Amino acid sequence: MNPDSHRRDRLLADFLELIQIPSVSGSEELVRQVLLLKLSDLGLKVETDEAGNLFARLPGDPSLLPSAFSAHLDTVPSEPVRYRIDGEWIHSTGESILAADDRAGIAALLEGARRLQEGGTRHGEVEMLFTVEEEIGLRGAKAFDLEWVRSPFILVLDHGGPPARVVRGAPSLEKLRFRFQGLAAHAGTEPEKGASAVRALALAISRMSLGRIDEETTANIGQIKGGDADNIIPERAEMTGEARSHDHGKLEAQVKEMIQAAQWAAKEVGVEVISDCQREFEGYCLPDGDPLLEMVGKAALACSLTFSLTKAGGASDANIFNARGKKSTVLCCGYYGPHTRQEKASLKEMEDLARWICAIMERH
Ligand SMILES: [Zn+2]
Repeated sequence: MNPDSHRRDRLLADFLELIQIPSVSGSEELVRQVLLLKLSDLGLKVETDEAGNLFARLPGDPSLLPSAFSAHLDTVPSEPVRYRIDGEWIHSTGESILAADDRAGIAALLEGARRLQEGGTRHGEVEMLFTVEEEIGLRGAKAFDLEWVRSPFILVLDHGGPPARVVRGAPSLEKLRFRFQGLAAHAGTEPEKGASAVRALALAISRMSLGRIDEETTANIGQIKGGDADNIIPERAEMTGEARSHDHGKLEAQVKEMIQAAQWAAKEVGVEVISDCQREFEGYCLPDGDPLLEMVGKAALACSLTFSLTKAGGASDANIFNARGKKSTVLCCGYYGPHTRQEKASLKEMEDLARWICAIMERH
């Protein structure tokens, strides 16, 4: 058999096997077991931690630098995955996600390691981390003991788009919560005795800048609730939302503006407001000329792939690794429309990713 088509077939087989294993966040057991066997077959030494993260090591030349890669084991909630293949594309049939986020990253990483072994090139140790509960707050990455990682960096395989695109930065995110406390009164007989928490909430939203604030900053109020009955002036109303920015100063300014809008609205209506904000995760950005970006760029060139840099609007495990002192960036994995029923993945691009990963492993 033609070696290229043999490699493509086994990458596809891995991918199709993995996407059909259900593993919503918190229930990653099955996929962890399957992966544990596959990694052991490849000759990696595999361990799990208390959180359920899987960590594997492929021995290498100790005189060369180790490299580390990560992908996440969980998916967003979904119906069982059903797929169809159309040329190089693997599509969801439209009833579920495809789970290419993040199975494309996992399958390409396995294939990259296989190619490395077949190539027989001298290489450093290769470390692989498979995290749990990424989709529900990056919990696996937060719980993982980074002392296990000898590589000076972790390349996170977890973003839509073509290889060799690198997500060099992601925003910080602040969660916001506003609780309005008004005064209840009969809405028909003595409304003037009440102070409407719902009215204050609505006024606050109308005063806030939301959506895309600028190139680096976004803000949203995502949930509101309040009131008890149509004939009562509402005593309580609550809303939650978020603000994100790649720039710390802009994020602080945006959060301040939202809090001030809530305070202004509360005063206007004569109610109280309690505002809470909490940093969900810290952003990061690797600058031009960063050695990690240079290294993955050279590896892309060696594979004749077009290297490009972008920034993400969402977070990944790389936010956590960077915040905890381990340099990290994200590689695009050849899938599109993650978290939707239109999700699809390109076999050709997953193969490009596997070649790129292999070239990165060989450079260390
Ligand atoms: Zn993902």
